[in-house]
Amino acid sequence: MSIANSEIQSLTASQFERPQKFAEFCNNGGSPLGGLINGQTVAGTMNATFETIDPGSHQTLATVCEMGAAEVDAAVRGAQNAYLNADGTGWRNQPVEEKIATVMKFVELCERDRDILLACEIFDGGKVSELAEGDFGQIRACAEYFSEVARRIPMGDGDSLEVGPGVHGFSYREPWGVVAGIIPWNYPIVLTSWFIFPALLAGNCVLIKPAEDTPLSALYMGKLAEEAGFPPGVINVLPGRGELTGQFIAEHPGVRFISFTGSPGIGQHILRTCDRHGTRMKREMGGNGSAIVLADADPIAVARKIGRYTNQHFGQTCCTIHRVFVDRKIADDFIDAQRDFFQTLKIGYQADQGTQLGAVINSTQQDRILSAQQQTSLRGGSPLLSGGVAEVEGRSGYYLKPALFKTEPEIDCNPSEVFHAFATICPVNDAEQALTLANQSPYGLGASVWTQDIEQGVAISKRFRDGTCQVNCHNQIAYGLPYGGQGISGGPGAGVNCEETFTDYTQVKAVYVSQYDA
Ligand code: ADP
Repeated sequence: MSIANSEIQSLTASQFERPQKFAEFCNNGGSPLGGLINGQTVAGTMNATFETIDPGSHQTLATVCEMGAAEVDAAVRGAQNAYLNADGTGWRNQPVEEKIATVMKFVELCERDRDILLACEIFDGGKVSELAEGDFGQIRACAEYFSEVARRIPMGDGDSLEVGPGVHGFSYREPWGVVAGIIPWNYPIVLTSWFIFPALLAGNCVLIKPAEDTPLSALYMGKLAEEAGFPPGVINVLPGRGELTGQFIAEHPGVRFISFTGSPGIGQHILRTCDRHGTRMKREMGGNGSAIVLADADPIAVARKIGRYTNQHFGQTCCTIHRVFVDRKIADDFIDAQRDFFQTLKIGYQADQGTQLGAVINSTQQDRILSAQQQTSLRGGSPLLSGGVAEVEGRSGYYLKPALFKTEPEIDCNPSEVFHAFATICPVNDAEQALTLANQSPYGLGASVWTQDIEQGVAISKRFRDGTCQVNCHNQIAYGLPYGGQGISGGPGAGVNCEETFTDYTQVKAVYVSQYDA
């Protein structure tokens, strides 16, 4: 059954009130929320705190303690001890079924406190409920997928090889030990889950560094981890600014592996820091996703579907569409429909019924987006919707209007990631021209092609220089398939959510054994 075009809408908010328990958690009896280190809640030796705010109202939600170099060191030592206690027991050596039981107990506690975690995403992260609810579902889905992978992938000794007279060798797979996840603000619950479950189930102990804009869900998950029965030190949560707490983590040689999601510049900087002392790192660093719309596609339905994806989390989704290449034969109808979609988005407070475009996360992002809107015009883009600041009655958040530009193939008006309801539409002569333009971006996270001809769509999609290639859909993520970036969007390896993700959290050695013939 086909969907009426009017039914293709952006993700939308239901009314969401602050649960009392969320307010109590944020208030913390009048004290700042501390980090979680080796099973203890700590205020930190820097005596520094920061406020986390609701981006849609500028209201302070909670005061949070910032973790310094001493806390990072204490977390690393606590995690090392929890990994392999002095007596040789420890998280590493717990049987996989015991690890899974603790992980699934933690998932049940998250589900018990669903409203509190939803409140973290909605008020701290500035999300509409339809998206926050989808994100919440990733906790169980991710834990179940990696439990199954952990049962299947053998750790320890691999098959033995005869390598010479009286000498045999075998591979030996083991966890890294202490691993850290540096998490951005756009998908805190999802990205924390994608980090902790494969890392823990592979036998590592973890340091979670939430973004300074959205520390609440990780801090709450830390509380639940203790209740679930993770031994002290297995899960540590270190809130703080990137250039301090994050930098201390990157500089600590006891952290053997870092999983980073964030911007390319920061990812490249952390990689250089880690490389000085041999810490391994994998990175997901944003995108500037493209969509190619072929002449046989319905311009109105496809314009609305693409609009829905572009505006997912108000455009603050790394893999989503910000560059559209549409066949000239249908370009006028496509442009009209996409302009209509964006200009009728309901701008409002993210927890108010019906909101589709809420505030962006912080003032830096607001400035960046406004500047990108100007730059696109200066580079020659023709504004179809010119963006600018939006007012929402009774709220003083970081609200912006959508921006849409028509461009020509000769000029690249949209070279960098712009995290908003922002897109350029470029009419093209054919699919080849579109592919060439789409692949010119240094990013390579997600791309899609839209056509009735599935065979041609699949053939085109395989030629994208992106980690995720899609036909008649976008922002697709499934456990069992890799989600990762090519170009400056990420690497090394396939990405997250697949078997390789699990093995990324392990290292493999070779062991050679010779007869003793001295
Ligand atoms: P975004 O552009 O999405 O805000 P960033 O790359 O700035 O993303 O931040 C992503 C994560 O990296 C956040 O948790 C942030 O605190 C952290 N971070 C920022 N700078 C550093 C740094 N120098 N070292 C380690 N972590 C950092």
